[in-house]
Amino acid sequence: MQTDVLPSAGPSRDAYGRVIDYLRVSVTDRCNERCFYCMPDGYAGWSTAADRLRADEIVRAVAAAARLGVRKVRLTGGEPLVRSDLVEIAARIWAIPGIEALGVSTNGTLLATVAHRLVRAGVRSVNVSLDTLDPELYRRITGGKIAPVLEGLEAAHAAGFEIVKLNCVLLRGLNEEQILPLVDFGARHGFPVRFIELMPMAGGFDFARHHLPVAEAMRRVAARGALVPEPDARLGHGPARYYRLENSPARIGFIGALTVEHFCATCNKLRLTSDGKLRPCLGREGELDALPAIRNGGENELAEAFAEALRHKPAAHEFDRCPGEGRPMTALGG
Ligand code: SAM
Ligand code: SF4
Repeated sequence: MQTDVLPSAGPSRDAYGRVIDYLRVSVTDRCNERCFYCMPDGYAGWSTAADRLRADEIVRAVAAAARLGVRKVRLTGGEPLVRSDLVEIAARIWAIPGIEALGVSTNGTLLATVAHRLVRAGVRSVNVSLDTLDPELYRRITGGKIAPVLEGLEAAHAAGFEIVKLNCVLLRGLNEEQILPLVDFGARHGFPVRFIELMPMAGGFDFARHHLPVAEAMRRVAARGALVPEPDARLGHGPARYYRLENSPARIGFIGALTVEHFCATCNKLRLTSDGKLRPCLGREGELDALPAIRNGGENELAEAFAEALRHKPAAHEFDRCPGEGRPMTALGG
């Protein structure tokens, strides 16, 4: 536990008045799967041992963020569960004064082995990526096998996370027929399902071919029954708009970064990459190198790095202006 950490005086706001209280921490850019929209074929930009944040450094950075008003943390990657010290990192972050919510985003393949330990470490919510229930389609999209993911979901349910959500990236021509089966699967197991619009990250995939607007997914679900808006803070701290499906236990979220108007108006987060860069916006190229401050700086330098990233947070993303450039999602932490 950090002993030198005091909770901050109050929330930080960016230049547009948005409260920034959410830090998404990518603990690694490595992954045991190969989703075509996230990890480009032949990608060579991996972090090196020298520039990868160690557990101590991640905890130090989150503690600094907490002093500036961050209250919610999500550990992501790459695949965070490939890091053998993930449970230790989670426990130490949960012990930081001011941190009120801790979640993990995972592909689920390694979850069965670690779900109980994550809950004991303080992780309250887990988001598991699942773009399809069809094993062959799952293999085409991710390069991996679906069985360990389903085992991971079972283990997560048994481990007692407060909330287990499914993340499905909408992929035209691939998984639109999977939307209703995933809604039904989520309803049966008590897992809210979030449908996420494909974003044009670097990676050589055909964005225009596969992009499917959330409005179309909503129409498909609404053919089954009315979608009733359900704003519920327990469902998460991110950008999803939630609904329940009339006459069903299904809870469904939609994340439409490209097509939903005013999507960025409620943005509340900063990102820390596994190589120590602060990224104010996923949909803009700018990053601030905080590694020197995290590794060797004093508290003031570290605070200044976060303040600088906050100052550079833009009003909105620019996915439409520079599609497919820069670093791929696996390097940034989706
Ligand atoms: N490996 C973990 C997982 O798959 O959940 C955590 C990291 S992954 C980068 C986080 C989320 O980003 C996943 O739900 C993934 O589907 C999503 N994602 C990756 N690339 C994306 C893209 N180009 N557009 C939209 N979502 C993407
Ligand atoms: Fe790995 Fe997650 Fe990216 Fe798929 S989306 S390649 S599981 S990091």
